[in-house]
Amino acid sequence: MFIIDSQLLSYLRCPRKAFLDISGDFRQQESPSDFLLKLIKDSSAFRSSILSNYNYQIPDYPHGSLIAGAKATELLMAAGADVIYKGVIMSKLSTIKPPLQHQIQSDNFLSINFVSNPDLLIKQPGYSRFGDWIYIPTDIKLSKRPKLEYQIVAAFHAQILASVQESWPEIGWLILRNKGLYNVNLHQRIQQMQESISELIFMLQNSLEPEVFISRQKCNLCTWYSSCHAVAETQKHLSLLPGVTSNRYAVLKNLNLTTLESLSQANPNDLESYPEFPDGVGIQVVQQAQSVQENKVILRNGKFIGKLESQLLPITDYQLIKLGNAPVELYFDIEAQPEINLDYLHGVLVVDKRDNTKKFYVHLAENPLDEELIWSQFLDLVWKYPIAPIYHFCEYEIKTVKKLAKLYKTPTYQWQPLLNRFVDVHQVITQNITLPIESYTLKNIARWLGFEWRNPEANGAQSICWYEKWLETGDRSLLDAIVIYNEDDCYATYYIKEWLSKFLDQEVGNRE
Ligand code: SF4
Repeated sequence: MFIIDSQLLSYLRCPRKAFLDISGDFRQQESPSDFLLKLIKDSSAFRSSILSNYNYQIPDYPHGSLIAGAKATELLMAAGADVIYKGVIMSKLSTIKPPLQHQIQSDNFLSINFVSNPDLLIKQPGYSRFGDWIYIPTDIKLSKRPKLEYQIVAAFHAQILASVQESWPEIGWLILRNKGLYNVNLHQRIQQMQESISELIFMLQNSLEPEVFISRQKCNLCTWYSSCHAVAETQKHLSLLPGVTSNRYAVLKNLNLTTLESLSQANPNDLESYPEFPDGVGIQVVQQAQSVQENKVILRNGKFIGKLESQLLPITDYQLIKLGNAPVELYFDIEAQPEINLDYLHGVLVVDKRDNTKKFYVHLAENPLDEELIWSQFLDLVWKYPIAPIYHFCEYEIKTVKKLAKLYKTPTYQWQPLLNRFVDVHQVITQNITLPIESYTLKNIARWLGFEWRNPEANGAQSICWYEKWLETGDRSLLDAIVIYNEDDCYATYYIKEWLSKFLDQEVGNRE
């Protein structure tokens, strides 16, 4: 049995993925999304740019043959190569020093091999079985942060390397984007690595399929997403409820609140004593369960008093003013390329209720150098309607207006008053109501209300890929796809705001 560093990395990100990658039904796996392919390509380009600084040697072995790769790598290490790229290091578990051996409960102890592929092995002064030098494991990562999983994998490289060269490499390096060399504290990570390896082996040897847990951040780019999501839906898994994080789920399990029904009947006060449920999160999570269980909209409250239905608090004037019906309303959405810090599209839907018209305006930087031009076009448009509220979804638009104003030294009178006109529809929703949905994204809310995007595949990540491809190929159909997507986002924001406005008016009317 081989335990490979890439398996450990998968396990650290999601144990279920590490399991499915080996034992899952591959017919249920999806092709990688364009955005995932872009990340892989960017990662490879970054690796090449770093490698150009090194004079490295590559071990000569047939593709895929780990044993031959390990032998060829050892030959280069013994010859004292300064830098080895694409090396393979391998060690039998039985040759690894305790305590790792003791933690692994395995009948096949002798048959386990550890294999690692650090991007680089870099020669440093020291003593090893090869002579007065040792090798340091080094990984090249596109990430800006030394993520914990990368550090734990560095400790795995070090553990195997210690066995191969008979000398512990005191350091492990990560080469990160914009950050350069990061020195991993191996002593701090070794125990976490050993525990994770032990759990991974136990899971694989006993074919233990880990429970599904859908998390937007972790699952978004995973090729098992559809299959896992279907399992979670069948189980009505609590991870499908907004607000149920893995830490909170662990508490819920301890309290035996593992079903939608039990959670929707729970007393939020029982949750509030746990640090995982601070500042009213317990009430929100219980209300979220009720909303989904009963498929109904619930007004949010600050405090739990008794029966949830009896605690409807007044909607504040502030919120009503924010959603008031102005004669002209603007709906604003930006498309951006975060990696190059570029905001390349400002879309604005102008809804004129006086003559019942809607018109979409798009300011698009076909060339990244046009960012300033489209910023001034946007300002010209919004100042044609000097008192119209500007509706948007989430904070990005406000942050970007501040950023662009600073970057292009826009006079204060041209941009500062806009901030008072902005209305974050997402904030108004999340502060006031609970919806029977999986997450409070623009797509989820609008789709729940019946709105559909013309291109069902379009999303923010896809739009980033389209723009990058437009810059590479000059294919105008890609720009058209971005504009249609952005227009639909503006219309979706309008659709949600209209519904929300009516809903809140109705709730106020019911109480008067
Ligand atoms: S979709 Fe999520 S839960 Fe399923 S394997 Fe991927 S990361 Fe893990």
